[in-house]
Amino acid sequence: MWTPPNECPRCGGEVLWGYTENGKRMAIDPARYPDDDTQANQAVYVDHLRRLRIRQLSKARPLASFEHRAMPHVATCPAEIRDRQARAAAASRPARRGTRGRGRGGGHQTRGAASLVIDLSSRRILR
Ligand SMILES: [Zn+2]
Repeated sequence: MWTPPNECPRCGGEVLWGYTENGKRMAIDPARYPDDDTQANQAVYVDHLRRLRIRQLSKARPLASFEHRAMPHVATCPAEIRDRQARAAAASRPARRGTRGRGRGGGHQTRGAASLVIDLSSRRILR
């Protein structure tokens, strides 16, 4: 099987590629994390074919003696973090859909509960 270069295609940082329990490729940071560092929530070991095996740590399945802790690269990848922040910023902008809608046509006693968005879409409530 072709082994990709040990670098992240998005940020160019050094990573190690391994396989999850579902057989998916996954990049982890090459650093070895202390056994009690819960931020590094992946357990890795090298199998008999020298493939890096990665799995999610959990209370039910804690670190085994032959594994060590690793950090998923997506948690530290600068490109990934930048994208995530951009997505979060986009999500926090007021949504365009849903402000118009049906609303409650007849309700005229909803002033107190109406949000700013609803006020904007049905101006008559403001008077
Ligand atoms: Zn990266």
